[in-house]
Amino acid sequence: MSTLHPLIPMLQSRQDEDASTLGQKFSDQVQRVLQRSMQIRHLDAGSCNGCDWEIQSLLCPAYDMQRLGLDIVASPRHADCLLVTGSVTRHLEIAAIRTWEAMPAPGIVIAVGACACGGGVLQGSYCTAGGVKNVLPVDISIPGCPPRPQALLHGLMLALDRIEQKLHHSNHEFRIGRSEA
Ligand code: SF4
Repeated sequence: MSTLHPLIPMLQSRQDEDASTLGQKFSDQVQRVLQRSMQIRHLDAGSCNGCDWEIQSLLCPAYDMQRLGLDIVASPRHADCLLVTGSVTRHLEIAAIRTWEAMPAPGIVIAVGACACGGGVLQGSYCTAGGVKNVLPVDISIPGCPPRPQALLHGLMLALDRIEQKLHHSNHEFRIGRSEA
């Protein structure tokens, strides 16, 4: 199990007087890397909806992800990263690929939950791909059944690091709409 992102403890403790300062630091990082908020597309590729509700909870006042410069968008064409839940049913495999292909580069993919990370309870079933990595190039995996909101925020922080890394080191390898890497 990897250690938590250094900014996560502040997000877990609303009592911590440094929380707002550190939250501002992450928000500033979003601005610095993207010059705007980070846009997130959520794709349910065959989940039981447990992971989806945890993602939705990030929008409630307790977590208020928008204060950090994070937002959920409806179109993959506006998305910096793709949150995929579920083990990717065969029925939704093409939809997942088309969603990712519609995203602008670098098109970060985050597998959310045990099902998305490796198939979960449906591992080996004929009706699923057995995890997002078998369909899309996964950048970050967030384990858990379902993962807690803090873990989701941790993953989004790592996603921002990954976006910065890709933009910084491989910029010449991107073409419009898709990464060559
Ligand atoms: S990881 Fe757990 S909560 Fe998430 S979709 Fe799979 S069974 Fe449901």
